[in-house]
Amino acid sequence: MLSVTELSERHEAVQARIAAAAERGGRPAADVTLVAVTKTWPAELVIAAYEAGMRHFGENRPEELAAKRPAVEAALGTANDITWHLIGPVQSRKADLAAANADVFHALHREKIARRLSADLAGRILPSFIEVNISGEASKLGVDMRNWETDATRREVLRTLISTTQSLPGLPVVGLMTMAPWDATPETLRVVFQRTLALRDWLGAELPELGPLGLSMGMTDDYEIAIEEGATHVRVGRALFGEREID
Ligand SMILES: *Cc1c(COP(=O)(O)O)cnc(C)c1O
Repeated sequence: MLSVTELSERHEAVQARIAAAAERGGRPAADVTLVAVTKTWPAELVIAAYEAGMRHFGENRPEELAAKRPAVEAALGTANDITWHLIGPVQSRKADLAAANADVFHALHREKIARRLSADLAGRILPSFIEVNISGEASKLGVDMRNWETDATRREVLRTLISTTQSLPGLPVVGLMTMAPWDATPETLRVVFQRTLALRDWLGAELPELGPLGLSMGMTDDYEIAIEEGATHVRVGRALFGEREID
């Protein structure tokens, strides 16, 4: 595990790359939230990363988040300024853990889960990104939007999911999330991010009542391209914390 000093250096290096990419994209660096992905790492790493200046943390499994958040709060207090992002999918039987522990959810793609989360929130608010599968890779979750530009039926499916989610208590829709295809060339990645941005803009015009929508896209290997193409949230693990032993 890295020291606080090493974590500070890595944090600064990633932030500098974020700022440069934002500038290339014609946006202020403050438009981009760095979500530090701490999945598989112990609570001690989150605490050290907090001391190194990180404030947004990402976990991909509800049960891991539900264990780690209290451990971090035991050290830093419950009144800390951390935002916990749940970036991976939720199954029905884990909805209660997600609803009780996540501050932002990045992987909503089924109405059934939206209804479960809303019922379990008990007055909490869980701003949520809708996950879309733009590349069409079979291994990817998310609403199938691979041919969205020409497929009015898929656009209607997405629009209905968003309207339904938005109408449920506690689940404001705040944007779209996508995962880039594995092993793709930078050119292919860029097209996936551009098409997600275009979908976000289409939605913004269709459902103006949603207000400004964010874009959660970009990980260690592609966050700079994602920012150039409009990402507002990047989910970065390995560039900050090194390789995970398990995944
Ligand atoms: C693990 C994970 C990340 C971070 O991946 P890195 O390659 O370590 O940056 C981002 N998003 C999701 C959904 C993840 O599961």
